[in-house]
Amino acid sequence: MEALANRVHNINEPQTIAMSKKARELMAKGIDVVNLSLGEPDFETPQHIKDAAIAAITQNFSYYTPVAGIPELREAISQKFLNDNGLHYAPDQIVVSTGAKHAIMNTIMAIINAGDEVIIPTPYWVSYSEMVKLVDGVPVFIAAPLDQNFKITAGQLKAAITPKSKAFLFSSPCNPTGSVYSKEELQELVEVFKQNPQIYVISDEIYEYINFVGKHVSIGSFEGMQDQVITINGLSKGFAMTGWRLGYLGAPKEIAQACEKIQSQYTSATSSISQKAAVAALTGSKEPSLSMVKAFERRKKFMAEGLASIPGLINNNPEGAFYFFPDISFYLGKKFGNQSIETATDLCLYLLNEGHVSMVTGEAFGNPNCLRISYAASDEKLKMAVERMKSALAKLV
Ligand code: PLP
Repeated sequence: MEALANRVHNINEPQTIAMSKKARELMAKGIDVVNLSLGEPDFETPQHIKDAAIAAITQNFSYYTPVAGIPELREAISQKFLNDNGLHYAPDQIVVSTGAKHAIMNTIMAIINAGDEVIIPTPYWVSYSEMVKLVDGVPVFIAAPLDQNFKITAGQLKAAITPKSKAFLFSSPCNPTGSVYSKEELQELVEVFKQNPQIYVISDEIYEYINFVGKHVSIGSFEGMQDQVITINGLSKGFAMTGWRLGYLGAPKEIAQACEKIQSQYTSATSSISQKAAVAALTGSKEPSLSMVKAFERRKKFMAEGLASIPGLINNNPEGAFYFFPDISFYLGKKFGNQSIETATDLCLYLLNEGHVSMVTGEAFGNPNCLRISYAASDEKLKMAVERMKSALAKLV
């Protein structure tokens, strides 16, 4: 009998993590690699949040908490949804999880049966397709090309819907492209969803604060939509708290209760300490988050200029998150000595091994002509990365 279950063979390891592993291996050999492959802010967690966690430890807040989160945190999230997003989720419609990733997985487990289709605009965050496959759901991809700034249209959405469509899963601001759906663009999608009330929208808003084009718009805030939307968010990106593992969702009550039930048999509540820290994050000063966003915006401009100076790249214009997703197809089919570069993955490995810059192949995000470049790194490192990319790419003939 085979040792491993089929589901293990059906999914891939995230290439974001795989690339980082490769970069670390080179670094362990003493090679100085500029790592632009990871999706996490390079800032420290703000002090007032750390203080709340330290106080929680000192006060022995170290026991199991209610599965869906401590009441004061669910209340703080409920207020956050209302104040920031115009969303009316009561505390009992909120489930706190071990990261937004866990909140998405809970949602998928709660609503997707084998054979149900989940519509995913492409490029998409690496884990979406694999999470759907883990529950024997069927990911249905809609291609959003660069000349649409990687956003789908209402017409494309309509065409992808079948009687088996159960959910639509997307992020805005988007990982990997940084694209942000405007209010008008969301309104067009909303019209389609209203005609198809059997489809749940899973709206991943983890990059909410890292938005350079004005206030974030939640799709659940459109009139008549909230009962059709599960809103996912968390502290990882906006508060530089990736390691604290705290995410959450707001959902129609039945779905929230289902997520709580699943989580109760799976992981239970997330860390009690992180929950206390999260209360401080959500109710305290947003100043550190705002200055982080300003730094990202400055770096984005810097990177845009740097990437524009590299021949052959076609750059997108990210409006949020901290990624560029340039089209690199100009370099496909070129060679370095005997080594030919046939795919974005080949190019990515070449840039790592020859240029000592680590990024992620677009293939991981459903687009084989692009690379994802994270600019969550210091100015100095970004400068070095652009120079290295330029000189490594110039060697390809
Ligand atoms: N959603 C998107 C689009 C992400 O990019 C990430 C992390 O990279 C997550 C969710 C997961 O976030 P968390 O750290 O809260 O699990």
